[in-house]
Amino acid sequence: MDCFVCENVMAQKSAWYYVCPKCGFEKTTLESGAGRGVDGLELLRRQNFALMIDHLQKHKALKDISCLEVGCAEGWFIEAMQSQGVNMYAIEPSEMALPLQEKGYNITQGFFPDALKGDEQYDMIVFNDVFEHIPAPIGAIEQCEAHLKEGGLLVINLPSNKGLFYRLSKLLHKFGYSGPFERMWQVGLPSPHVSYFSPQTLTRFTQKYTDLRPIESFTLPSVAKDGLKERISASYNGLFGKILYWGIFCAMPLIKILPQDICVVVFEKGKSA
Ligand SMILES: [Zn+2]
Repeated sequence: MDCFVCENVMAQKSAWYYVCPKCGFEKTTLESGAGRGVDGLELLRRQNFALMIDHLQKHKALKDISCLEVGCAEGWFIEAMQSQGVNMYAIEPSEMALPLQEKGYNITQGFFPDALKGDEQYDMIVFNDVFEHIPAPIGAIEQCEAHLKEGGLLVINLPSNKGLFYRLSKLLHKFGYSGPFERMWQVGLPSPHVSYFSPQTLTRFTQKYTDLRPIESFTLPSVAKDGLKERISASYNGLFGKILYWGIFCAMPLIKILPQDICVVVFEKGKSA
């Protein structure tokens, strides 16, 4: 298997897991479908969307712009953006699209980019925890460029393989305890991760296949005290879950200053600096 980012041959590490020895991009052969995430994340996600909007406002006045969200899940990002006056459109492959359509949101059920009607263009295209599930990321990134207006922004929010929790899970996996590592890749869940980027590999990948320019990269927290108990118990029952909860709870001040597990990279179409 060749690396999408640097075309080097990827090293196979397990039945389903490959790493590029040259650039650090990671990939699996797991099949990703339409599925929902884990319980206990609503508050964290909503807080992170508010932080994202603070960053996006530095680059673009949000009022009255058009924004396409690819994979809107429960619609929390749509709500946050609409409160800023953004005209939101979304694509969602799962059944979660239906109640949102009933609420009157502009949501098409299907996969990106096939679900788009034609050559419509947006001021902003956003992926929240979606890009790492896409089986053909090269076609997807090219279509993002095609569906952005001049001066438009592409915003990709995804897990980073430079993050503390991912690195810890990888270390445990090396010592034969693979539970957390498989959880990071969402093995056995309806929609496993297909790829694991970092801000660096995502930027290199995007610049390889498009003319989009990176204009900002930032990280977001992947754990919050609120909802933590529920989120951990969704994956780990019993004593291990309790230990994990108290471990993370007590380490929270330290976790805040170590590399975060969620990164956001913002790209711009056209308009050279
Ligand atoms: Zn590579």
